Amino acid sequence: MALYNMKEILADAQKRGYGVGFFNAVNLEMIRAYIEAAEELDSPIIIGTAEALLPIAPFEWIVPAMLEAARRAKAPVAVHLDHTYHFKTLMQALRAGFGSIMYDGSRESHENNLKHSAAIARIVHGMGVGLECELGSVSGLTDETGHEDEMVYTDPAEAAEFLERTGADFLAVSIGTQHGVYKAEPHLDIPRLKEIRAAVDAPLVLHGGSGLSDDDFRNTIDGGIAKINVYTDIILAGKRALCEHPDASYTDGLCLAREAMKEATVKKLRVFGSAGKA
Ligand SMILES: [Zn+2]
Repeated sequence: MALYNMKEILADAQKRGYGVGFFNAVNLEMIRAYIEAAEELDSPIIIGTAEALLPIAPFEWIVPAMLEAARRAKAPVAVHLDHTYHFKTLMQALRAGFGSIMYDGSRESHENNLKHSAAIARIVHGMGVGLECELGSVSGLTDETGHEDEMVYTDPAEAAEFLERTGADFLAVSIGTQHGVYKAEPHLDIPRLKEIRAAVDAPLVLHGGSGLSDDDFRNTIDGGIAKINVYTDIILAGKRALCEHPDASYTDGLCLAREAMKEATVKKLRVFGSAGKA
């Protein structure tokens, strides 16, 4: 199949009311796990990486592998760059060939988030690349100094103006989810999500999908979420497979972890309703 763009994949999801999974990869086993899961279910999928993962998987190693795997896949696959904070990384990402990128200005003041997101939109749109931005803040990630992001709920009253002034194509919202492993049971603010959905047309993105229940996923998709980011649940599945087979060789361990990550991905795609939508 030809390489897909996140914009076309999410437009279909929004039209037909299902969610599309986004999964970060740092090696071939993860890329293969995701794409085999999508092919098995005849489902669209989005794969990518993030600025924080660069020390594990530099763009020059991982992006060509993702793009080639996406082009060869028998399911629609888009390649997207997740949380990125620095202009330099964004420029490297454009050169590397991502079809869409996330600029995360949620650590900045509201005005600076607006200003920087708008400037980046003008640059990436000039290259035909889509832009995801975040309004409010999803907690759980830490910056270079070790400071953990706090949760700031997205204000529905600000969403339309934010998209209008920035020109962003996709909006990441904060409605009670958290990155990484949940410290307490999450309580999602679905009425807030529905208010945001009613205020804007852009596809909405849910970060912090690991640890949510199947009902949480169904409620957020019904409430207007089109893209769901999952990472922690996948790497935990891979790690569990390795721990269960401590005597496996390195190469056998890779295969076991890949199978486990594929199964974990299949489960998510089924719940998101994207199976059979390719
Ligand atoms: Zn995220």
